[in-house]
Amino acid sequence: MSDIIRLLPDHVANQIAAGEVVQRPASVVKELLENAIDAGATQISLIIKDAGKTLVQVIDDGKGMSMTDARMAFERHATSKITNANDLFDLHTKGFRGEALASVAAIAHVSLKTKREDDDLGTILEIEGSKVVNQEPVVTTKGTMISVRNLFYNVPARRKFLKSDNVELRNITDEFHRVAMAHPQVGLKFSSNDTELFNLPISNYRQRIVNIMGAKTNEKLVPVEEETELVKISGFVGKPEFARKTKGLQYFFVNDRFIKHNYLHHAVTSAFEGLLKEKNNPTYFLFLDVPKDSVDINIHPTKTEVKFDDEHSLYAIVRASVKHALGQFSINAIDFDKE
Ligand code: ADP
Ligand code: MG
Repeated sequence: MSDIIRLLPDHVANQIAAGEVVQRPASVVKELLENAIDAGATQISLIIKDAGKTLVQVIDDGKGMSMTDARMAFERHATSKITNANDLFDLHTKGFRGEALASVAAIAHVSLKTKREDDDLGTILEIEGSKVVNQEPVVTTKGTMISVRNLFYNVPARRKFLKSDNVELRNITDEFHRVAMAHPQVGLKFSSNDTELFNLPISNYRQRIVNIMGAKTNEKLVPVEEETELVKISGFVGKPEFARKTKGLQYFFVNDRFIKHNYLHHAVTSAFEGLLKEKNNPTYFLFLDVPKDSVDINIHPTKTEVKFDDEHSLYAIVRASVKHALGQFSINAIDFDKE
């Protein structure tokens, strides 16, 4: 009897990996925006057609890639961001898995234009079915433009399960907001079907939140500041009247990365004890800086879940700092009753 185990061809392996990294157009948006941030861009444009089903395009003025790197970028586990396992606990970038572009290229038509500052010519390349089908030199400016067309064209089951354009566009907008809030030092534009939805100037954290959420938000933000050995906390909680039954205005960022964390969410909610109407969720935009070796980012391919070394202490510090902030603004249960 002959042996039966075979290594999968690269494009099949990439398609399987893509299942984890790319669930929907918004996943592509997240990966491309994060790559632009990692490239040191100061201006980023996101252009969407048909809720990302037809086109997701990101243009940045970051450091660009060499001709060879532009090809390498689409190989699986190919990254410029880490070199060994220890680097996983000293991350300075959003990316490190070297999976996103390989995954995207396995399930969409991708084209890339990129140039480094000191190169005379840039390079343009096209990828289909994980293979470079064309590469040419091109006159262009510093930075990178990447276009992802016809997402899931070769994975009909995935394509069929995409939601309506409204829902997919909302998911994309959520990702855009998360990246934009974490990086007020970067100017960001976003247009959908040729309509400009956001044009966010370079600013600070408060102003960025206000530019995204609307001018009325400004007076509803209560600053939170705390610094201990375990964590430096900054950001804002919304005054109780900013709380909503629906979820969606809860933002935790850990070392500039948006995360979801039920336990820390509970810490904030419990700090609002007695101030919220029943079942309302507090609004918050909290930025946690923790030592890089005290958090594991690599527990899920999309990196929105993280594992802290000392969750319990973090809970206590977050709760106390939010309570303190609310107290300082003398928001108390009596005010709430008068509403
Ligand atoms: P990762 O971000 O985990 O390294 P990706 O597949 O997202 O993996 O990207 C692979 C590599 O391609 C990156 O490590 C980086 O060197 C390069 N790259 C991707 N996008 C850009 C960009 N917008 N500007 C410059 N380099 C980029
Ligand atoms: Mg990446």
